[in-house]
Amino acid sequence: MVNKDAIRTALCIVCSVILFLSILSPTPPFHEKDAVEDLSPRPYFTIRNCALLFITINGIRLVIEFIYAVFYPLYVGKKRQSYFAQKKLCLVLDLDHTLLHSVNINDVSNDEQKYLNSRVSSVGSSLYKHDRMGKYIKLRPYTREFLKEASGMFILFIYTMASRQYAQEIGKLLDPNGVLFNNNINIVSREDSTIINKKNLDVMAGPYEKNTIIIDDTEHVWAEHGENLIRIDRYMYFSAVDGSYKLKKDGGEGCVDEDEALKSISEVLHCVHKMFFESFPVPQAYHELQEYAKTVDVRPILKESRNNSGKGAPNC
Ligand SMILES: [Mg+2]
Repeated sequence: MVNKDAIRTALCIVCSVILFLSILSPTPPFHEKDAVEDLSPRPYFTIRNCALLFITINGIRLVIEFIYAVFYPLYVGKKRQSYFAQKKLCLVLDLDHTLLHSVNINDVSNDEQKYLNSRVSSVGSSLYKHDRMGKYIKLRPYTREFLKEASGMFILFIYTMASRQYAQEIGKLLDPNGVLFNNNINIVSREDSTIINKKNLDVMAGPYEKNTIIIDDTEHVWAEHGENLIRIDRYMYFSAVDGSYKLKKDGGEGCVDEDEALKSISEVLHCVHKMFFESFPVPQAYHELQEYAKTVDVRPILKESRNNSGKGAPNC
């Protein structure tokens, strides 16, 4: 399979070489005396040439931005309508402490490493050792079942404050066939965010405040989309002790990992999805679907289904 990162890197190198050569191209052959005798001593890049270069580059950029500004809203609008036509809403998922807990291998004590290494290859294990990233990754219990069930009702997205490389690698681990996250296209990382340490739906194509449910263990990063959020308890498989990580153990008999938060949230999602499409039946006609996408809103249904537990989790 073609590695997209390798292609991107190769293109960057080729473009950089072309740009460098294009800058050098007007350089006269100074090593040949006869060839430079008639040249003016004035700098080759005159103000006029620089101005032309500036206008050309910015002119091209302006045209590209104009095309983007005109066609992008049309593209996104059609995409959102297609989701509703499939009877699907959008589900934006955080990674760390929501779907998994990962730690650097070097931060785990030697004794713990031996224990973990004996478990990573066992059948049915949700514990992974990713040598290239240098990490142990433990999926939250029920993660794979949760994603499979949710994909029947929602278009799935990941939004993490971690790096793009990390997000892409975890995306491959969670979705090796590229089915759940659209070949990792539906993954957003901190490099895509417009505000440091904040998440916002405006950087995503498809999800918007009226059609999206968010699941995240960190509430404050979603300051603008609190009404879309189901906050999940922070998942910790490892615990930090004296600068290194240890497993949470119960009487020395192994790690206690009986978290059922995703199971509970899956039930809630089933309920909210059912209530939404019962309240707002999807029209068949195309022009009605346009109007439908503008008017329906999942937030009141999510609000209605919340209980008073104070955790922000709905109860249908
Ligand atoms: Mg998190």
